Amino acid sequence: MAYVISDECIACGTCIDECPVEAISEGEIYKIDPELCTDCGSCAEVCPVEAIAPGE
Ligand code: SF4
Ligand code: SF4
Repeated sequence: MAYVISDECIACGTCIDECPVEAISEGEIYKIDPELCTDCGSCAEVCPVEAIAPGE
């Protein structure tokens, strides 16, 4: 199950460099490609607004 970025995202860009498989793309709200995400959790650890969580 891929991690998901919520509406809380402030587009700070911190998470994008943490992803080892380049699953995160930029935007007004950043997005995680569920096909690429390996559930490592690295992005969630660095998000300053806790906008990233495991998907349900
Ligand atoms: Fe990338 Fe890991 Fe975050 Fe998935 S959980 S988007 S693989 S950093
Ligand atoms: Fe959005 Fe959090 Fe990523 Fe910053 S670190 S771009 S707030 S999801």
